[in-house]
Parts: sequence; C-alpha cells; structure tokens
Amino acid sequence: MKKISSFLVLVLMTAFFVGCGGKADSSDGVYEGVGQGKGGDLKVEVKIEDLGITDIKILEESETAGYAASLSTLINDIIKYNSTDVDTVSGSTLSSNGLLEAVKDALDKAGIDPKDLKQVKQEEDDGVKEEVSEEYDVIVVGAGGAGLAAAIEAKMDGANVLVVEKMPIAGGNTLISGAEYAAPGNWIQEKEGIEDNPQLMVEDTLEGGDHINDRDLVTVVAENALEDAIWLRDEIGVIWEDELMFFGGHSVKRSLIPLGASGREIINKQLAKAEELEIPIYLETKAEELIMEDGKVTGIKAESNNKSYTLTAKKGVIIASGGFGSNIDMRVKYNPEIDDKILSTNTVGSTGDGITMGEKVNADLVGMEWIQTYPICDPLTGTLLYFDDARLFGHTVIVNKEGKRFVEELGRRDVMSMAIKEQTGSVCYEIIDENGYVESKLEQNHKPELDYLFENDLLVKADTLEEAAEKFDLNVDEVVASVERYNTYVEDGEDPEFNKRSLPSKLEKGPFYILKAAPAVHHTMGGLKINTNAEVVDTAGNVIEGLFAAGEVTGGIHGKNRLGSNALADIIVFGRTAGRNAAGK
Ligand code: ADP
Repeated sequence: MKKISSFLVLVLMTAFFVGCGGKADSSDGVYEGVGQGKGGDLKVEVKIEDLGITDIKILEESETAGYAASLSTLINDIIKYNSTDVDTVSGSTLSSNGLLEAVKDALDKAGIDPKDLKQVKQEEDDGVKEEVSEEYDVIVVGAGGAGLAAAIEAKMDGANVLVVEKMPIAGGNTLISGAEYAAPGNWIQEKEGIEDNPQLMVEDTLEGGDHINDRDLVTVVAENALEDAIWLRDEIGVIWEDELMFFGGHSVKRSLIPLGASGREIINKQLAKAEELEIPIYLETKAEELIMEDGKVTGIKAESNNKSYTLTAKKGVIIASGGFGSNIDMRVKYNPEIDDKILSTNTVGSTGDGITMGEKVNADLVGMEWIQTYPICDPLTGTLLYFDDARLFGHTVIVNKEGKRFVEELGRRDVMSMAIKEQTGSVCYEIIDENGYVESKLEQNHKPELDYLFENDLLVKADTLEEAAEKFDLNVDEVVASVERYNTYVEDGEDPEFNKRSLPSKLEKGPFYILKAAPAVHHTMGGLKINTNAEVVDTAGNVIEGLFAAGEVTGGIHGKNRLGSNALADIIVFGRTAGRNAAGK
C-alpha cells in the first residue's frame, strides 16, 4: 500500500450550506473511513462541520494512477452536493464505489446517516469568472509525457514556459501506461548481443503501420529514440530496468522498461524536473481555443473553475493534449465500428480537444480512422492489464474457450484484438506457469492488480493446468493438448502453427495461472498533421506559424497500427523537438 503522493492530496473548495449558523454540531470533527477500491483498501479522512462534508482527503489508495484523477471529480461532487448519492465516474466504477464506501464509513463513525446530511442550496452561479491575462514564451497544452518533455526542453533552451492541464493531476495516459520505450542500439541490447539500428526500427514501424506512416516522421523518432532515452536517464533521472521487453511487430527485442514497468516513473521524474526548473503547471485548467492573429497562433484561451485566462505565447503554443480514445462520439465519427460497446484503457481526459482546437485554425488531420485496441484488458472495465507483461516476456500461451490457440501471442495488437473479438464471448485466456509468473515480476510490479483480478474471478491459480482450465470451464483436454504442443515448439525453437517469434520457456511448472481478457480502445493513431520540426501543417500543406504539436494528438507516425513501446519514443522525441523549436533554439 502506498502513501498517496502530495500532489494528489486534495484540498478542496469550501461548500456552502443552508443554515450554517455557526453553532458546532456534536458530530463536527475529522473522521477516517475505509472502502474497497479497485486496487485494495482506500482510506479517506472526512471533515464534518454542521452536518456538512467540507473536506475529503485521500490518505491511502492503491488505485491505478488514472483512477485517482477521476476520484477527485467524485470528491468535488460529494462536497458540492453534500451527499454520497452522487454519480460514480464513468470508466472507474470500482474505484468510485470504494471511495463512496470509505466516505460512508467515516460518516458512520461520526454517527451520521448519509440521508441526514444537510440539504445543500447551491451557490448561485453568476457565471462571472476572474479574467486573467498572462504572457509566456511557450505555452504547452497537456501535462502528459509529451507535454512535460516539451516544457522541460523549452525551459532548458531558455524559454519562459507555462503548462496547462485540464485534469486535477498531471500524467495523462502516459502515467497509466507501462511506458516501455523502443530504443534501437541501446546499452542492454549491446550487452545481450542483439544487433539493431534505427533503420530496422523504421522498417518495423512502417511494416506495423501497413506502410501508410509518414516515413520522415518515423525516421525522426527512430534516429533520436536512443539519445532521448539517455536524456531521460541522465538529465531527468528516469531509472531503466536492466532488461528488455519484446513487443509484437518489432523484429528484435529493443524496448527499455522504466522502473516498476510503469509510466509513474517517467511522469514523476518529469514532474520533479519541471519543479526544479520552476515551470508552472496549472492543473484543472482547460485549453479551450487557440488565439490567431494575422495568420499566426499567438496564445490560447483557457478556463479553470473560477478564472478565464487569455494566455499569450510570444514564441509558440505546443499542443500535447493526447488522443481521443475516451471520446465515443469522435471515435464513431471517424470509425463507426469503435462504438460505445468497446471499452477503453484511456484516462477520461483523452477527448481529442487538441484536434478540435487545431481543426478550427485549419490544421490538417491524418489517419483519424485508425484506432487501436489493446488485446489484453479487463473485460469488466477496459483497463489495460499488466498481467500481460508475462506475454511480452514471451511466457504465455493464449487459448479460446474451446482450449485452442488461435493467434500468435506476440502478434500485432490489431491482429490479436480482432482475432480475440471473433472468439466465443469475444474473450481470450492467457496461460502462464510459475516460471513465467516469477520471471515477469508480476507480483513485484503489479500486486494490487493481481489481487483485484483474483477477487473478480478474472484470474485463477491452480496446482495443475487441468484444474486451472476447469475453473474457467474451458475445454480441459484441448487446453492440455495446446500447451503440450506448444512445449514441443519451445524444444524445437520453432512454432509451425502461429510462428510465435519468441519461445523462451515451456509451460510446465505449477502452479498455473489463467487470465480472462478482452480487447479495449488503447491508442488513436490519427491526429494533427505535423512536419519533422513538430510544426502543425494546415490543409493546404503550409506550416501554421506559432503552432506545434507532439504526442498522441498528432497523426501519421504510427500509420494504421502502433507498435507497443513506440509511443514513448514518439512522445519524448517529438515532445523535445516541439519544445526546442518553439523556444526558437
Ligand atoms: P501524450 O502521451 O501524447 O503525452 P497523454 O494522454 O499522456 O498524451 O497526455 C495528454 C494530457 O493532456 C492529459 O493529461 C490530458 O488530461 C491533457 N489534456 C487534454 N485536453 C486538454 C485541454 N483541453 N487542456 C489542457 N489539458 C488537456
């Protein structure tokens, strides 16, 4: 159980209550409560004044980072309406319920029945916000991996920088990702004798994207990926693990793993650097539109709870607002198949705002219909499951309900996802043995997720393969036959059925684990068209002066399908490129 980091400690607005007569109620005070979140115990401290909830602090939680962001929305609502009868946050029902349970527990300790909480008269909203005008050299929209890389680079290059982030915490999808990073020719490859070079990564990426990618942009990523991974290590303090992962579609093992196989390592270190460099990050501040003057972008309009900002950028605006995986209308507009029946791994902030803002200044869009699903996600919520690390280390066999293998376990994400969608129940079953479990450090890196999966019957463990398969009511004989055949392929070093590109070990040592999983929307490949300087290009092919973009908000780099671990390389390389060019270096 971790202590929640200080920036998540939410000091929240004062609520206004009818009849706050000033007389202390006997239940006034601060009470602790516990609920069951998605990752385990969720502990809160609730301040009660005159039968009103005036503050809620999260003391402990083990939620996936992105859910913590959505919890703050819920906390705001509980305080605003002085009620536990509020809507849970979509996409994070389990965490939301855990929080509500914890608040109710605290109320119980205060001797208050939730229905006895004072009715709230909402403060009349006169709609008047404070008008604020500020001036910077560079303004960055979005504090995910790309935005923070851009801001740090621009500041290091001498620019005065501001970052605006619409969510209550920084990090975006980068924070909740595994954050593996494809870096051809890296130091671990050298140690392991793996030959690689940027050109090979370019070819793999083009092949993975069905050759509709922009070769020039891909080349920028591949040629700078290693240098920027070293920059993250040496300048930003990111710790890379001493081993590599093998992602589907890459022809060699080339992906670095951040400490704990989590984007927390990248974002936390970027935030520490931003703080050291004194880069202001305005949280809960949403960029609404770009300001254009004489055909040039000169700033943005942004809104917070109580302020309307006019923010001037003397040198440039960098859009790094991520993709649109959580915006169902936008998904359906560009690809009707990716409708509301498909869950999403994304944070609620991925709504394509930067694309919409860009369109209004005539920015060109590329590849909008290419929306990637990730094959191994929670069938209940859509959350990407890090149990899948075992697959990326090569240790899994995937079967269907009938117990049969049906796809290469290290195949492309889109190929695997579509193959899974066609199986019974549109789910698959990922099998590993004890060796795979230990080698993949599942317990070490992802314990809260494992607890959640066991509790929700999505993961089973048994001494024998037969018993494990029975628990999911799979065709046991077929499961055993599939694994036995697979083990002979490991011996032969070749998989004649599905050509699995890495066969490190047999599945033979109990206990065995089986995960039930389904695909969910993961990455939107399309977005703003940029050139190799990260400048945004308009529909006539001209650069829009003063406007840069980096990260998932851009299109063209990943073609029809993004290879795993290419996003991190992309967002850091193009984040830095945008920062450098916006700063005018
Ligand atoms: P990338 O990987 O490209 O950095 P992320 O999803 O990690 O993308 O980060 C994008 C960030 O941008 C998220 O933190 C998201 O909340 C933020 N964001 C999205 N739209 C806006 C907006 N209109 N104003 C400010 N921040 C935004």
